[in-house]
Amino acid sequence: MFSPWLDGSEPEGLAVAACAAAAFMLLSYFIAVPGYRSTYIDTYRQSVAGRLQLAEHIRKLSAEQLAGLDPERISRSMMNDFADLETVCSHLLPEICSAVFVCLLVAAGLTIYNWQIALCFFCCIPAAFLILRAVVRRSGSMTDTQRKTALEASSNLSEFISGIATFKANCMGGAKFSRLTDSFEQLRKQSLRLEVTMMPFALMAMSCMGSGIGILVFAGQYFIASGTVTPVEFLCVTLIAARSIVPMLTFSVEFLELQYFAGSAKKIRELMMMKQMEGKSAGLPEGSDLQLDRVCYRYPSAAKDALSNVSLSIPAGTSVAIVGPSGGGKSTLLRLIARCMDPTSGQLMIGDPASAVCYTDLDPEELNRKFSIVFQNTVLFNGSVRFNVTLGDESFTREQVENALKTARVDFATQDDLIAEYGQNLSGGERQRICIARCLLRKAPVVLLDEVTSSLDVWNSRATQQAISSLAGSGTVIVIANRLQSPTTTELYLLKTDL
Ligand code: ADP
Repeated sequence: MFSPWLDGSEPEGLAVAACAAAAFMLLSYFIAVPGYRSTYIDTYRQSVAGRLQLAEHIRKLSAEQLAGLDPERISRSMMNDFADLETVCSHLLPEICSAVFVCLLVAAGLTIYNWQIALCFFCCIPAAFLILRAVVRRSGSMTDTQRKTALEASSNLSEFISGIATFKANCMGGAKFSRLTDSFEQLRKQSLRLEVTMMPFALMAMSCMGSGIGILVFAGQYFIASGTVTPVEFLCVTLIAARSIVPMLTFSVEFLELQYFAGSAKKIRELMMMKQMEGKSAGLPEGSDLQLDRVCYRYPSAAKDALSNVSLSIPAGTSVAIVGPSGGGKSTLLRLIARCMDPTSGQLMIGDPASAVCYTDLDPEELNRKFSIVFQNTVLFNGSVRFNVTLGDESFTREQVENALKTARVDFATQDDLIAEYGQNLSGGERQRICIARCLLRKAPVVLLDEVTSSLDVWNSRATQQAISSLAGSGTVIVIANRLQSPTTTELYLLKTDL
């Protein structure tokens, strides 16, 4: 078929073929460049969108689901798993597709030219696929274990770093944190096990894919001897066939990498499948009277109820203290009132008695607007005092922020002063007062305070009490108190008085 071109009897045919090849290369280039660009741009854009979507999903999970999630697991999924997917979409998939395309093109060309030659070259491909499939099956559970070990090591490392001060305080210097050493040792073992198990099979599959060229060269002498092809034609065919070897080897390696990265997609999917809190967007009711009717709550991991049959009514505008022994369910009650989670049974209603609505009929996000909470362990962010009070809502004027800070007795910093991460450069009482300023600024109808003064010294405690007093009068204030010293408290609820 190619002989007249190659022996020079039809030189114009050869020229046409050369022009066609050059045109094909140019076309490939002009298609590939924008293709690659859009692949990268789209991949990174999708990755940012995916990360934000996951963050939004996690934000809407209930407190109990969040409590069951290792923060390290979330941050690994956010960063590493998405980075793996970026690699898959920007490198692996395009390269695998291009490898498959080149191989199919060569296979089709060879088959059209001479199916026996094509058969010789591609006869080992099915065996290579069988080996790859076996590797994938074998490595599935090992990959999961290796990922789990890597997560454990990373969690232990975070725990170790945050506990360095404690180790030093106990004269241990961190040296006795054997959990960290053990988990790194486990990670080394698991990673090695995965490599050692997969590598020989991967090499076997690659050898199978590459062996076609050897078979073709071996069989070539018979094709030439029988006159099926001339030596020059056979050389051309061999060169074309060899063009598909590198893509085939690329395919083998990247196919296995793809299986590994599939684990990252699985981890992200697991998080995205976690059920969010439900609720219709029926609009918030007027008023903020709270009504709890035989509310029970049991933590998923607990054997008994943390709260059982709690019924109470809190009219809007009242100041209430919830007291009870440690472990009596006070914080749980506060979390239920703020709908950080839903009760196991019973119901909570909010609104004027005439138009009160059941919590579960409300969109949790909308319901949030009714509450401001100051937890025992307050969360402050790295940024200005103003940012920490407004939480980035620029609609508040400087004057409003100034007033809130003044009322909350934040007399130790201006709104432009900087706060370190987690508020490390402030005392416990100072952090609490910034959170109270947050509540004052938001003017939520119901303010919930979880033992905010329990661990404070007398001076900080007094200033914080004064700040709490300023919250009363503007709405409902519900305080968990183990010491009854809130001057604003007008009602008292005792939890588990039988204890
Ligand atoms: P209090 O605030 O009165 O000290 P809590 O509401 O924190 O009490 O806890 C009430 C009960 O629920 C306790 O027995 C506690 O051990 C249990 N509990 C609290 N949080 C969890 C949790 N995340 N998982 C399992 N049990 C919990």
